[in-house]
Amino acid sequence: MNFKKTSISDLHKKYINKEANVKDVIKNVIDNISKEKDKNFLITFTDKEALNISENIMIEKNKFLSGIPYVNKDNVSTKGVLTTAGSKLLKDYVPPYDATITELLKKQQAIQIGKSALDELGMGGTGLFSFNGIVKNPIDEKRIIGGSSSGSAYSVCKGLVPFAIGTDTGDSIRKPASYAGIYGYKPTYGSISRYGVIPYAPSLDHVGFFTNFAEDLVYLADVFIKYDKKDSTSINNEKDYLKVLEKKVQKNKFVFIKQVWDYLSENLKEAYLKLFDILKKDGHIVEMVSFNKNLLDAIPAMYMMISFAEGVSTSSNLDGINFGFRQEGNDYEDIIKKTRTYSFGDTVKRRFLLGSYQLRKENQELLLAKSKKVRRLVVEELNKIYEDCDILILPPSLKEAPLINEVYGTDIEERYDGDSAFLQDLLILANLNGMPSITLPFIKDNKTNMPIGININSKPFTDDNLLSITIYLEKIIKSNFNKEN
Ligand code: GLN
Repeated sequence: MNFKKTSISDLHKKYINKEANVKDVIKNVIDNISKEKDKNFLITFTDKEALNISENIMIEKNKFLSGIPYVNKDNVSTKGVLTTAGSKLLKDYVPPYDATITELLKKQQAIQIGKSALDELGMGGTGLFSFNGIVKNPIDEKRIIGGSSSGSAYSVCKGLVPFAIGTDTGDSIRKPASYAGIYGYKPTYGSISRYGVIPYAPSLDHVGFFTNFAEDLVYLADVFIKYDKKDSTSINNEKDYLKVLEKKVQKNKFVFIKQVWDYLSENLKEAYLKLFDILKKDGHIVEMVSFNKNLLDAIPAMYMMISFAEGVSTSSNLDGINFGFRQEGNDYEDIIKKTRTYSFGDTVKRRFLLGSYQLRKENQELLLAKSKKVRRLVVEELNKIYEDCDILILPPSLKEAPLINEVYGTDIEERYDGDSAFLQDLLILANLNGMPSITLPFIKDNKTNMPIGININSKPFTDDNLLSITIYLEKIIKSNFNKEN
C-alpha cells in the first residue's frame, strides 16, 4: 500500500467496506519498511507488536484512526518501548508510562509501526544528528530531509505510513514538510498535550503531525486537540474539527510580509503572484503588510537565547543518575561530567554551554530577560497584523532542501548575522506567539525538481479556519501548480 495515494479516510473506508483487512495492511506496511531498514529513519521498528495488535482491532465507523498505521517520534514516551530522543544518553531508556498522545492513539486503536529518528533532543534542523545515523531526503539522497522530526518526515514522504507524529520548537515539523513535499501542522500552543514528550524548550515546544493529504490533518486534530490536566501548559482548544470537512471556506484576508517578499527568488515571486491572483478572483483579499525589520533580524538570536536556556534547564535530569546511560565516576559531579561528555553530540553540548552562560546570575537580566522582552515585541507585532487579517503566509524555505555536504556540521548559530539571515528561521514566529501553523506542498524547483512548500498561519485558537484554508489551498495548488502532488 502506498500512502502517497491512500489517505487516512480512504483506508478507513476500505476497512469499513471490507475491501482491506487490518492484518494484511500492517503486514504490507512492515514489508515496505523492512526494505528501507538501512535508511536510519526508524530508531525502533515495532513490527512484532504492530502485527500482534493488528489481530484484534475492531474497526468502528466513526473511529477514523482504528487500524491506521503510524510512526511516532522518538521523543514521545511509549510504555515498554525504547524512547531515546535521538540521544546516546537515552539509548537504552524504556519509559514506564505512555505520553498522553500515545495513550490517545492507543485508545483510537491506531497502530504504531516504529519510533522515528530525530536530531538529538530535537535540537537541529537537518536530520544529520540522531545518534543512530543520518536520515537523507528520499526524493534525492544527496539532500537533507530537514529536522528535527526527520524520520517522521521520511516515513510520510515515502508513503510508508499515512501519518507520523512530530514535535516543533522552531520549525521542526514545518521545515522538513517543505523539503519533503508533504503536509506539516503544529496547532495552537498547548492544544495538544506534551505530557510524556521529552522537552527541548517548554515555552516553544509543540506536538503536531505530518500527512500526505490536507484532509487527514483534520482527522488528527479532532483526536489530538484535547485538554489534558497532566500538562500544566495545556489549554482547551477542543472543537468539533470534523465540521471543517463540511464547511465551505469563508472569504479571508491573506497577508504576506513585505520585508520577506523583497528577498524571494523570481521563481517563488512568480508562483506567489499566481496564487494571489487566484485567491483574489475567488473573492479573498491579499495584501502586503509591513513587519519591523529589526524584530525580524532578531528572531534567530532571540530564539537561540530562549531555547538554549530553557533547553539546558529542562534537560538537567539527563545526568546519568536519574535516566539512561551512566558513565561511572567518583562522585555525582564526576558522573554527570563523564556521562554527558561521552553521550551528548556536539550540537547539544554547544547549546547547553550557551544556555548555561545565560543562566548565570549576572547574565540573566542582561541576556535572557532581554530576549524575552524582544519576544514580547514580536508577539505584539503579530497581534497588530492579526487585527486586520486572517491568514499570514510565510515561505517555509526559500529554496529546495540543501545538499548534505552544504550543511553538514553547521547549526543555527552560524546564520544569525546578515541582512537576510532571518529568512531561514521565519517559521519560529509561530513558536513565539503560539499561533497554529501549517506547511503545504507548493511548487517544484524548476532546476532540481525538488519540492518547496508554502506555510500559512492564523491567530491562536483559529485552527479550524486554518485547516479549512489548507483544504481549499490544496485543491488550488494541485490543479494550478503541482499536478502530481
Ligand atoms: N531547527 C531549529 C533548531 O535547530 C528548530 C528545532 C525544533 O523545532 N525542534 O533549533
